[in-house]
Amino acid sequence: MSKVYFLRIKSSAPETLTDAGKKISEVFSDFFGLEDKVAVKLHFGERGSQTYLNPLLVKAIYESLNERVKKAALVDCTVLYKGERSFGSSHKKLAQDHGFDFAPILILDGEKGDEELKIKVGLKHFKEIKAGKGIKDFNAILAVSHFTGHGGTGIAGALKNVGMGFGSKGGKLEMHQAFKLEINPDLCQGCGTCQEECPAQAISIEDGKAQIDYQRCIGCGKCIAVCPPGAVGIPWGASSSQDLQQRIVEYAFGILKQRKAFFLNVLLNITSGCDCLENVQEPMVKDLGLLGSEDIVAIDQASLDLIGKEKFKSPGVNPDVQINYAQEIGLGEKDYKLIEIK
Ligand code: SF4
Ligand code: SF4
Repeated sequence: MSKVYFLRIKSSAPETLTDAGKKISEVFSDFFGLEDKVAVKLHFGERGSQTYLNPLLVKAIYESLNERVKKAALVDCTVLYKGERSFGSSHKKLAQDHGFDFAPILILDGEKGDEELKIKVGLKHFKEIKAGKGIKDFNAILAVSHFTGHGGTGIAGALKNVGMGFGSKGGKLEMHQAFKLEINPDLCQGCGTCQEECPAQAISIEDGKAQIDYQRCIGCGKCIAVCPPGAVGIPWGASSSQDLQQRIVEYAFGILKQRKAFFLNVLLNITSGCDCLENVQEPMVKDLGLLGSEDIVAIDQASLDLIGKEKFKSPGVNPDVQINYAQEIGLGEKDYKLIEIK
């Protein structure tokens, strides 16, 4: 049975967060050592969101970690959809604007999201995964995950933060892929930027509009990032939730395969949508506390149990799928012992 540590917090007021961050960091004090290079995996929050991870909390955790390891940096990868988090430089700037300016920040898949490290997994959906290349410089991970609901996967916790979050743009695309990219002819201006940038010569301009040759497309996702008017998109929702959840879990498997990892789940300002949404969200559950564990399956199961599965109501989405599949492929165990930190 895995241990999950729980620090109850009555309020996420800024004056309490530094102490809470230091206290929860005690649970991994013996886990990381001076030989470790630790990627602190975060979601820095979309512009316009207000309920993403509080930087004061993360600063306290980072400083506790940094004094006992060889190197630590805050990391994420680019995202698939158009916006500031689609490029390395603007993603980093957004992180700094959101208060994450106290530590090095690395966007692991580079400026356009096409710098990849392929890792063999040999699982049901993937033979290999495409992680952000920068992960090769780290032997350890501390995943700090704001636990929220999510339209496609039911919940977004440690499994999603690690699985989807470490994927390069092409990796994220193949996790979502049971479909083909679409070019919106009403938005396409025929500028040819996507054609120039496409590494597979899969795009042509015909009658002033871009066309994708799906026989050539390698699914890198670069055209989504570089299109000025945002004409290239994914038909969201085309992939089944079960497949999407299992693919994310296979990515988490690949990322964690050769790295030691510890997980912190932040159960504060728990919203029904994830931190990728641009709007202000009213939390459906305000503040419960912080969880810590060496087991990515146990910590997500404990988070779901503490919040209550009935709170996560995405139609047709069962969040148990990701937890069950993660246990099935050996990422951890659902049985846990909750140890409250006083
Ligand atoms: S068309 Fe395919 S290969 Fe070319 S940039 Fe877009 S996703 Fe990448
Ligand atoms: S970059 Fe965008 S607007 Fe330009 S040709 Fe490609 S799809 Fe059309």
